[in-house]
Amino acid sequence: MDAVPAARWEWSLEQIEALGVLASRAVAEYLAGLADGPVYRPVPEALKAAWAAEPAPRSGSPAARVLDRFAAEIAPYPLGNGHPRFHAWVNSPPAVIGVLAEALAASMNPSVAGGDHAAVYIERQVLRWFAELAGFPAGAGGLLVSGASMATLTALAVARHRAMAAAGLDVRAAGLQAGGPRLMIYASAEAHGCVRKAAELLGVGSDNIREIEVDAAFRAEPGHLDRLLTESRSRGEIPLAVVVSAGTVNTGAIDPIRQVSELCAEHGAWLHVDAAYGGPAVLLLPEYAKVRDALGLADSIAVDPHKWLYVPVGAGMLLLREPGLARDAFSLVPPYLRAGDEADEPWLSEFGFEQTRPFRALKVWMALQHLGLDGYRDLISHDLRTAEYLQSAVRAAPDLDLLGGELSIACFRFRPPGWPGAGERLAELNRRVVIAIQHGGRAFVAGTTVRGLAAIRACVVNPGTTRSDMDVLLGEVRRQGARLLAELLRG
Ligand SMILES: *Cc1c(COP(=O)(O)O)cnc(C)c1O
Repeated sequence: MDAVPAARWEWSLEQIEALGVLASRAVAEYLAGLADGPVYRPVPEALKAAWAAEPAPRSGSPAARVLDRFAAEIAPYPLGNGHPRFHAWVNSPPAVIGVLAEALAASMNPSVAGGDHAAVYIERQVLRWFAELAGFPAGAGGLLVSGASMATLTALAVARHRAMAAAGLDVRAAGLQAGGPRLMIYASAEAHGCVRKAAELLGVGSDNIREIEVDAAFRAEPGHLDRLLTESRSRGEIPLAVVVSAGTVNTGAIDPIRQVSELCAEHGAWLHVDAAYGGPAVLLLPEYAKVRDALGLADSIAVDPHKWLYVPVGAGMLLLREPGLARDAFSLVPPYLRAGDEADEPWLSEFGFEQTRPFRALKVWMALQHLGLDGYRDLISHDLRTAEYLQSAVRAAPDLDLLGGELSIACFRFRPPGWPGAGERLAELNRRVVIAIQHGGRAFVAGTTVRGLAAIRACVVNPGTTRSDMDVLLGEVRRQGARLLAELLRG
């Protein structure tokens, strides 16, 4: 411990190593101990109050003591992700090598805006690998970003620039205040909320998102999209982009990408595919080969390595068929400066909004080097098989209704046999079951709404989750359900 100094700037190799040993011990205890604790425990009120009142430290503390505070105060109160019985949202555990890659990337601490250093080439390599998996042509590219929300915003900004340029308007100079034609985005009600956020931020406005109807399996109806696009054309509106999903966040539905791409080509609309969640399954597994072939027809694709590639959070990926269009939309390097050194690759910061950019590629690259594509195929297949087990168990159960479930998602509700109440009471019961399970600490799910019905949603993106964990979840649903039902009937 003496080797680890009090507050200081200069560190010898031995001192860095000694602190590193303590830090890696904390990482190991956290990750290896996760499954033994409750999935979730609330932060104690006293601790919340202490944090809220604590002033910024005036003088420093020995690094080892700072690490001790992490272990005592912070590590015991996680969101719950990483635990094998955490099934909420789309939050995966981090691959161990990805955790340590964060420290290595931070050691180098480059800005990956551009320049001639390793991080730039590693980001380009990772993007090329995924562009190839998606079936994009040579010359495709993209950008690593914070997540699929930023990938979607970036893609729609590029689409907006292209659509306005086609109408003879320069949106970069004039903004949307030049009184041009109305821009439209087309997306189904199952599209992720980031599409709406992006439309609002880009000045398109959420009133200008046309909702594509979905079929019984929550997939966008191409026939309806065709009618919407035709109507828009007759009104002189500009189709900015069509957004479809390869794995919707709610039920995992995969939209008919090929049919949609044909309509986009016919109407001159940009096709953005949100594969934030489903991307890794679709890109890697043989059973999704048809979807994968259609994916290559998109103009842009969002994939989240921080979901089903188990990379630590802060790793989203935007793939672009024609990256030059992103450069047109974002670059502030004037063409006369570009001309001299065309041999040099452009800076990554010319393709998006961020200037100083973290070395996100290292954790993706290291996880891929370590697991390999085949390793990922096995892990993702495991998640899919585990979720299928849950889907079948729910289907077979007289007291559970499966309301939706593709890929590794199951949305269902608890409906006790001979259920007496009306719809709203059943919804209330299911909402209470979700909260009770979360606070019980034995499993963790989130609630959702499927076709207006309150549902319990489980998403398996954790190779440590087993069938017996699924049994525990259903046991919890029934145990809490019976208890709350008795309460509701009494009350
Ligand atoms: C998670 C998710 C998003 C948003 O991605 P972030 O990484 O949270 O920004 C968008 N679409 C789908 C389908 C998602 O699952």
